[in-house]
Amino acid sequence: MTELGALLELRDLRTYFYTGDAVAKAVDGVNLTIHPGRIMGVVGESGSGKSVTGASIMGLIQRPGRIEPGSRILFKGRDLVREDERTLRGLRGNEIAMIFQEPMTSLNPVFTVGEQIIENLQLHRRISRRAARERAVELMRLVGIPAPEKRVDSYPHELSGGMRQRVVIAMALTCDPSLLIADEPTTALDVTIQAQILELIVKLRQELGMAVMFVTHDLGVVAEICDEVAVMYGGQVVETGPVNQVLSAPRHPYTRGLMACIPRLGMDRNMRLSSIPGIVPSSKLWPAGCRFANRCPQAMARCRDAAPPQVRSGENEASCWLLVSDAAPVETSDG
Ligand code: SF4
Repeated sequence: MTELGALLELRDLRTYFYTGDAVAKAVDGVNLTIHPGRIMGVVGESGSGKSVTGASIMGLIQRPGRIEPGSRILFKGRDLVREDERTLRGLRGNEIAMIFQEPMTSLNPVFTVGEQIIENLQLHRRISRRAARERAVELMRLVGIPAPEKRVDSYPHELSGGMRQRVVIAMALTCDPSLLIADEPTTALDVTIQAQILELIVKLRQELGMAVMFVTHDLGVVAEICDEVAVMYGGQVVETGPVNQVLSAPRHPYTRGLMACIPRLGMDRNMRLSSIPGIVPSSKLWPAGCRFANRCPQAMARCRDAAPPQVRSGENEASCWLLVSDAAPVETSDG
């Protein structure tokens, strides 16, 4: 059943990669809901499956990867997993757009940025070249590029990293998407530019009413711009809820561990930032029980035997045996 008013719903999304005789279960049972006009942060360490989740929604999974049967990606009530390639191509860039960490992966160095925005516009709309150029300048202005009438004829290498990312965002907006998937779009930028791009994304959400799925490893960024957050670990969402609830009262030990890694104001410069000890298990060999058990300071025997169920706790939902009332700690983890 689809959730009332949801823009995007992922139900038991599983994206596996078949390499040799092993199967990497990069995304392994993700459930997630994004509402129109909301910013959902998807946060986790490398290997948590967050980027593969974004790529799966965009239909960018290529062999040896595949979305497993039974997975559902419901966008405006339509299951994208069941749509043919032609329909998906129509949706990409029209209804759903994606931006990446490194703007140069989306820009062609041999064409001016204006030509690239114009091409994108003409690909999706019946629009004259002249009108497309005017719209390109308008979009560049919207994303805060100064003197867009001049910059429209610049080549990507003539622009700074921050300006290039603004151009990529302008390209993503060519067809007024209702969902923007932003995969670590500020990670490669310095702190000042990062703040400007985050501000831009919030402004565009307000002005255009689009929803944003913001993929990041940085809970600080989530605190700044997101409405809801989904914390991913081991190819699954381990905790989700409104940002203020998840950050003020995290229920899952992994969320608490991530929060301890955020630098705080007034912190002694020589003080070492904490990091979660241990490494993420291989996606080719997920353990039978809780996937965080080898790193969890509160792990119990039960955690290694069976995967914890998802439990509602206040406004948060988290998968942890500690939230199941009859679970009693019986041993300390070796992590
Ligand atoms: Fe830690 Fe157990 Fe909860 Fe997993 S289920 S997060 S190992 S306490």
